[in-house]
Amino acid sequence: MPIKLGIIGYGGMGMWHHKNAQKVGGVDVVAAFDIDAYQVNVAKEAGLKGYHSLDEFLKDEEINTVLIATPNDVHKDLAVASANAGKNVIVEKPVAMSMKEIDEIIEAAEKNNVVFTVHQNRRWDKDFNKVKKAVELGMIGDVYTIESRVHGAGGLIYGWRNKKECGGGMLLDWGVHLIDQILYMIPNKVVRVYAELFSVLNKDVDDYFKLLMKFDNGLSAQIEVGTFCLKPLPRWFVGGNKGTLVVDDFEGHGEIVKLNKLADKFDAEIVETTAGPTRTFAPRPEEVKDHFELPDVNSEWIEFYANVRDTIEGKAELIVKPDEVKKVYSIIEAAFKSNQLGKAVEL
Ligand code: NAD
Repeated sequence: MPIKLGIIGYGGMGMWHHKNAQKVGGVDVVAAFDIDAYQVNVAKEAGLKGYHSLDEFLKDEEINTVLIATPNDVHKDLAVASANAGKNVIVEKPVAMSMKEIDEIIEAAEKNNVVFTVHQNRRWDKDFNKVKKAVELGMIGDVYTIESRVHGAGGLIYGWRNKKECGGGMLLDWGVHLIDQILYMIPNKVVRVYAELFSVLNKDVDDYFKLLMKFDNGLSAQIEVGTFCLKPLPRWFVGGNKGTLVVDDFEGHGEIVKLNKLADKFDAEIVETTAGPTRTFAPRPEEVKDHFELPDVNSEWIEFYANVRDTIEGKAELIVKPDEVKKVYSIIEAAFKSNQLGKAVEL
């Protein structure tokens, strides 16, 4: 049975789904509903059935799956209404505004026997998949630290993303992607979360945050998102007991550096810094280091819709599972709490 997709919220991301979802075999985009009449007309001009009323949209029997791409504060009500109308439900990230809201969506989906998933599309990002593969293959040995960061330079956040009551701010916007990636890569349990949120240029929402997750195997993962960083740091830094991995950008440029056999033959020399000597931080000479390419990966975002299609047909299990979405949200809630309390939160 092909997916007949109806889109709720035909804004930036609604249009993106229209353009891209139909590249997947067995996925047709057929309709859109938006509270903004102008956006409904845009959808009609793009060849969709355009609806001004949610009720009328949900009564359209051709639609068997709904994609919700509205501001975050209305995701839950729209998801529950869609499930109650018997539609499969795909919600944009962040799925909702609280764990209670997520539970309500899951309950409605289970009661109506429909599929519910979340568009955690950054599981298919190339940079992430290179890191995941290198970590899983043990290419830098046992990993003790992962730093995942996005540094933007724009500074100002616009529209509903700049309003707390709409679910604005970077922890919900980008934090949800970066936490999801870490939990998708590291199977261990998170035992502690510490976070600090800042409003650097935008007074109502967080536009810079740092978040530390401690895993039960000792691994420490740091996520840093900044909207006003004029000299950006690399996208990923990963430290293992056999080497170091750096990914510079979303395209996945970067390398792995390891010591070679010559390492034993060189004694670190004492280096004089401006105001004192150090041996511990003396740089290793180039001859003792080997540079390796990051592993090749073949990650195609269209797998997301193909998986939803196959799950609806009973031929596959969801890749983005509701219980994974809840785990990510438990970290977000702990991060908000940690920031408020000014101390780490045990999970
Ligand atoms: P947007 O402001 O461009 O579009 C939102 C649209 O929703 C607008 O057309 C608005 O009129 C409509 N809308 C608002 N309230 C509505 C309601 N109650 N019912 C129906 N329509 C309503 O926002 P956007 O950038 O497209 O973001 C939408 C969602 O997509 C957000 O949840 C955001 O976090 C997510 N998003 C995800 C990604 C990703 O890569 N996964 C990227 C961007 C945005």
